Amino acid sequence: MAKYDVVVVGGGPGGSLAAKTASEKGLKTIMIERGRKIGDKSSSGCGLAPRIFRDFDFIKKMNIPGIKIKYQSMHMLDENLEERFMIRWSTSDLAEYPEAREFFQFDVYRRDFDRFLAELASEAGAEIRTATLASGVLKDSRGQVTGIITDKGEKVEGDITIAADGAVSKIAYQAGLRDKWRPDEITLVVDCDFQASRARMDELIGPEEYCNQVYVSPLYPATYVAMMPEGFHVGLGQWVGRFASGFGERPYEYLRRVISSGTLKRFIDRLQARPREFHAHLLPWMPRMPTNTYGGGIMLVGDAAGFACPLEAEGIHYAMVSGKLAAEVAAEAISKGDVSASGLRLYEERWKNSIIGEEFSTAKEWAEFWAGIYFDPRQWTKITPLANNLMFWASWSNPHIRNLRREISRYSEDVPFILEFAKSYIYPLLQRSQIPLFRSLLKLGWMWLRTKKRKGIQLETEG
Ligand SMILES: Cc1cc2nc3c(=O)[nH]c(=O)nc-3n(C[C@H](O)[C@H](O)[C@H](O)COP(=O)(O)OP(=O)(O)OC[C@H]3O[C@@H](n4cnc5c(N)ncnc54)[C@H](O)[C@@H]3O)c2cc1C
Repeated sequence: MAKYDVVVVGGGPGGSLAAKTASEKGLKTIMIERGRKIGDKSSSGCGLAPRIFRDFDFIKKMNIPGIKIKYQSMHMLDENLEERFMIRWSTSDLAEYPEAREFFQFDVYRRDFDRFLAELASEAGAEIRTATLASGVLKDSRGQVTGIITDKGEKVEGDITIAADGAVSKIAYQAGLRDKWRPDEITLVVDCDFQASRARMDELIGPEEYCNQVYVSPLYPATYVAMMPEGFHVGLGQWVGRFASGFGERPYEYLRRVISSGTLKRFIDRLQARPREFHAHLLPWMPRMPTNTYGGGIMLVGDAAGFACPLEAEGIHYAMVSGKLAAEVAAEAISKGDVSASGLRLYEERWKNSIIGEEFSTAKEWAEFWAGIYFDPRQWTKITPLANNLMFWASWSNPHIRNLRREISRYSEDVPFILEFAKSYIYPLLQRSQIPLFRSLLKLGWMWLRTKKRKGIQLETEG
């Protein structure tokens, strides 16, 4: 039976960072991946956050095809899936560091990125075993995890097991750290990978003009288009527990509808893009601070711990950060000779004090914002016309002052909706973010609304 200091399960970004860091700390480390090759089992493309380039020096060595995304756009569609309003914006001077001022995301194929990270882990000394499924955990008489058992029945012992086995973490479950995800903690994302010629994309889009897009409509939850080195991805998702309400039963049917109509169809046609692969993935999207991320002899990292961002479910950076933190704590715990749950509590303290804890401090508010706006198609029956009417004053239909008057009177009818909206989704965020001026303004607005309500004015609400 093989014996290691650290057994890492999963060869995604979390696993590779854990294996790389543990090996650099001098620990005998193995990383076990079920795919035949690293990256085989991942969703096929992703955007890397600029902070990955700020936080991880080794990224400078990365030499894989990618696209710097310098623009983002949001497209609001009506019930006929025709675009009624669109905004596009670029990176901002407000960003704190150069990479974030330069691009929103660096879009790459996961196959390339995961392999790049795994190679770093291997160079650092980690043993990498692919085509091997970790099917269970080994435990000692006190219930402390002492390694894993593979699908071939091989026992792989380790002082510490780091579970980086993704959203459906068998290891977390078997270690007794988690039951199944609750339906409001996990989403199903379906996406289609389109192939297009890069030369044609450069010609039609412009090499410096690549833009990731979001489409919202009353007919399906928000859909994203992410540009990739040889094409793009179109995807949409929803919390598993909300399938029946507002999402329907068949996610692929929504995807088909999105890509076969309106602006997006014209975009696909212009690029002469062809669907290459469909995927369906589970992705944790936690409306609260994750819990139970460690136990005796074990730590959970990345998606296995529920660390995807609660606003947009961006998870690669957090997987990398948590993988690194877990390996650092493993090295300290092993050197102190205490790999019990109390010895590994430090891991939770560390990630809570990191950028992960900071993001999750407003998890509830961000998740509710997303659930109530982007994942709720009903909102767009109201918001799209509101946005569309914003520019009505510029219409040549009548003298502009007459148009402006109509526009303002239309907006005053919608004040109750706007304030309800702000109260439900914006105010809770501002309240948590402690921006006093905005809080006070919203409070005043809300008090004004309550006075109106008391006077018997009927307010429209969603639904
Ligand atoms: C459609 C989609 C699009 C996304 N886009 C982005 C994006 O653009 N940017 C971003 O930052 N995040 C994105 N995310 C989230 C991101 O993919 C995850 O947060 C991230 O991959 C988590 O990394 P991880 O290492 O924890 O897990 P994973 O990347 O899921 O890796 C887990 C690995 O463990 C292996 N494994 C699983 N079980 C076992 C087992 N029992 N034994 C052995 N091996 C096992 C798997 O094969 C896999 O290689 C997206 C997610 C989805 C679903």
